[in-house]
Formats: sequence, structure tokens, C-alpha cells
Amino acid sequence: MRLFPEKYGRAPLFWLIYMLVPLIALIATGGWEGGFGLLLLLVFFLMFRDMYWHPSRAFLDALGMTALLAVLLFFFHETFIYLSIYTTYSLYFIHKRWKIIVVYMLAPLLFFELYMLTLYSSRVIDFSTIVAAMILVAAIPVGIRNEVKSWNMKEQLSKANRRIEELVKQQERERIGRDLHDTVGQTLSMITLKSDIARRSLPDKIEQAEREIKEIHTISRTVLNQIREIVSDLKQLSFREELIHAEKLLREMEMEAVVDAPVPVHGLNPLYENILAYSLRESITNVIRHSFASRCTIRVEDLPEEVRMTISDDGIGFKGEAGNGLLGMEERLHMISGRMNIESAKQRGTVLVVHVPKVQK
Ligand code: ADP
Ligand code: CA
Repeated sequence: MRLFPEKYGRAPLFWLIYMLVPLIALIATGGWEGGFGLLLLLVFFLMFRDMYWHPSRAFLDALGMTALLAVLLFFFHETFIYLSIYTTYSLYFIHKRWKIIVVYMLAPLLFFELYMLTLYSSRVIDFSTIVAAMILVAAIPVGIRNEVKSWNMKEQLSKANRRIEELVKQQERERIGRDLHDTVGQTLSMITLKSDIARRSLPDKIEQAEREIKEIHTISRTVLNQIREIVSDLKQLSFREELIHAEKLLREMEMEAVVDAPVPVHGLNPLYENILAYSLRESITNVIRHSFASRCTIRVEDLPEEVRMTISDDGIGFKGEAGNGLLGMEERLHMISGRMNIESAKQRGTVLVVHVPKVQK
């Protein structure tokens, strides 16, 4: 059983330290009285815990906790008032204005109770310690404000990341569907057509039938290759492998390849790495297909905020418009708040810079 939800980390556990003093005091009291106090304290703790699990009930919990404190103050020591730091904690789960105001009034209410006790009972209460406790209580909200902000940020970030992953997956599925339809689907229907012609050419036009069957043979090999290509596209791209692959490819094309990259790149989650690897693959194919360069440099910088990849060639330079390749790359980068830009000067080739932010789960 977890005491507190995981996303809050260990912080709530530390807060529990403040319950030790009353716990020990009540144990020391012993007897029926102490048992009664311990029971109240247990319920108090359960209500505090409940705020974390059910933030929508935090206001009710705060009211309940205050009622318990009122009873504890009445029967036991006045220093129990400092337990209202736990009540104050509810402010971080409450967003309605009037509820916030009510919660702020709860501690003074207990203060007022103590004051009444001095007036109408024989109890002697040391107000100086209580005032100190009250100052502590008032200071708590300021101290934990940042803590709560960071929980929320973390949560939003991981939500956004999950959403991005879903989107990318969905996009990949759509792309695969399109690829299959456009390539494999088309070639298969050619095979259907040609086998039909071949069948109808038999037995009279044997030569034509033979020609068609030969073509069918070639076409079916193409389908096989197309499928292989699509499948290899599906593999999780590792940036490291992709770098090695790129270098090899460039050398095979008799281009000089200069690779300046720290490997492994730290602090990228698989999705981001995948998109970086994809960008590398796409830009290297472009260099090979379009640049007519003799030299290509791949430079990767592992910066604190982002991974920056610069791919430059000394080819004819970029003039055309971005096609599916570059657009697809840009789209993927956008999804993870990354970006790319292309610089190109006449006779000085093309420089493509890809920025992948380091946002972590
Ligand atoms: P595709 O490769 O299918 O043509 P891209 O979006 O990848 O589509 O590229 C669009 C165009 O940009 C290419 O057709 C080419 O004219 C130009 N281009 C891309 N990269 C380079 C490069 N390294 N050098 C010169 N031209 C380039
Ligand atoms: Ca391309």
C-alpha cells in the first residue's frame, strides 16, 4: 500500500515528521485518554493522506481536520495547534476562492478557541509558543508553493509526452498504410493484370504469355523489395546505428564523410532519438540524391538544452522547394518542439541544422 501517490515524491513523507511530537506526547499520556487522542490523531492523518489521493475532497478534509484539532486542543495540550500546518496544506488542492478564504480562517478559529478556554476554564495557556506556531503555519504556503508548481509541471510534461508519442504512432500507422497502398498495392494489381493477360494469351500467343510471365517475375521481386524497405523503416531507429549507416553510405557514394559527434548522445528519450535518427537519414539521402557534393560533414553537439545536428555539404546548394522528405522531417520535429532550418549559398552547398530539445519525462 502506498502512503501517498507516486507523483508527489517523498515530500509528503517528510511532512509527517511533524506528527511525531504529538504522537509521542499521546503515547506518553497513556491510558484511555491517550488512546482517545491517538485515535483522533490517526483519523487526522488519514484525512491528510486523503487530500493527496482525492484532491477534490481536500476542502472537506480540511474542515474535518480542523474539527479534530479543536477536540484535541480541548482535551490535550495547546501546542496541538501547530498541526494546522497540515490543514493549510489543503490550499494546494483547492482552487475555489471562497474555499481558500475559509481555509485561511480555520487556524485563527482554533486560536480563538484557545482564547475562550483561557477565559472560561482554569487552563493556563502559554500564548507565546502558540504565536510562534501560528507564524509557522502562515509561512508554510509560501514555502511549498514551488513544490506544487513543479508537480504540476512534471505531470503536464509527461502528459504532453504521452500525447506526442500517441500522435507519432498514429502518424506512423497512417504513413505505413499509405506506403503499403501506394507501392505494394499498386504492384500487386499490376501482377493481377499481367497474369490475366498471360492466361488469356494461352495457348495461342505463347510468346506474349511468356513475356508477361517474365514481367510478373520482375514485378514480384520489386514487391518483395518494397516490403523490405517498409519493414526496415519500421525498425526503431537508433541514432548511433544511423550515424554509422550514414557514414558508410556516403563513402559508398565516394563522398568524403566527416563525422564529429559525441556518441552516445545523452538525455534523449527513445522518441526524440528516433526523430533525430530519422532526420539524419532523410538529410543524408538528400545529400546523396540532390547535392552533387564531394564532401559532407555531420556535426552533432550535445548542448544542455538541446541536441543540435548540422549537416553540411559542398554541393550545388538548395534551391528547390521542400518536398515530402523535408516536410515530413519538419512535421516530426514540430511534434517534439524541435525545429530545423536550411541555409544555402551559391557554390557553397547546403547546411541543414536540426534542433532537438532535451525534454525529459
Ligand atoms: P525529395 O527528396 O523527395 O525531392 P525533399 O523534401 O527531401 O524531397 O527535398 C526537396 C528538394 O530540396 C529536393 O528535391 C532538392 O531539390 C532539394 N534539396 C534537398 N536537400 C538538398 C541538398 N543537400 N542539396 C541540394 N538540394 C537539396
Ligand atoms: Ca528526400
